[in-house]
Amino acid sequence: DKTNPMLAVRDLQAWYGESHILHGVNFDVREGEVVCLLGRNGAGKTTTLKSIMGIVGNRRGSVMFEGKELIGRTSDKIARAGLAFCPEERGIFSSLDVAENLVLPPEVRPGGLSLDRIFELFPNVKERLKSQGTKLSGGEQQMLAIGRILRTGARLLLLDEPTEGLAPVIIQQIGKTIRTLKEQGFTILLVEQNFRFASTVADRFYVMEHGTVKESFESAELAANMDKLHEYLGV
Ligand code: ATP
Repeated sequence: DKTNPMLAVRDLQAWYGESHILHGVNFDVREGEVVCLLGRNGAGKTTTLKSIMGIVGNRRGSVMFEGKELIGRTSDKIARAGLAFCPEERGIFSSLDVAENLVLPPEVRPGGLSLDRIFELFPNVKERLKSQGTKLSGGEQQMLAIGRILRTGARLLLLDEPTEGLAPVIIQQIGKTIRTLKEQGFTILLVEQNFRFASTVADRFYVMEHGTVKESFESAELAANMDKLHEYLGV
């Protein structure tokens, strides 16, 4: 259905214990888009992704994905609905080699990419198959972390700061990968601190502050709103 958004987040609230972190987050992601959540440290971007994915236990409001309510579902059911989360810390197991890390996520719904398709996207992951997780560079770990969630059959990918700590040339490769995934029909919700990078890949942006969404921009509107963005992000 092209008229309804693929993902509609409405009045999303979340708590860690007693701490109320998200105070009513609202945004949409349409099928085929790359949407980016921007905001300073602590604004609630990661918590938003984790709440959508069902990793934060205490959450309220509505997260509709393709017409299905995700609030109240467990994270495994959410994965089976077609979402996958790539965490900021990447989650590569150091005691396993690349091949073993790669096959950890099961295909939870039809349409998961084969290993060959994943190697086409990430040729350097293929070259490192026998290496221990710990021996990989940050960039190789990030590619492995993105590559392996493609096995699940997810169509909406939640990527948390994929460029963090990476060299500019690797950041460019990640950007190319995200554009290729978009061309191949994936929908991407991205969290980024790196505004310059985000502006090269995202179609639309939401700016978060203190657990809510304050602004939204199309990529074509960024240049005209740099002062505002500077205030929110310090870029
Ligand atoms: P960052 O880029 O630093 O991850 P962010 O915008 O993603 O920033 P969150 O990680 O969502 O922000 O954090 C939002 C708030 O929630 C912060 O005040 C943070 O200290 C708090 N927080 C995050 N994780 C936990 C946790 N497990 N327990 C308690 N508070 C947490």
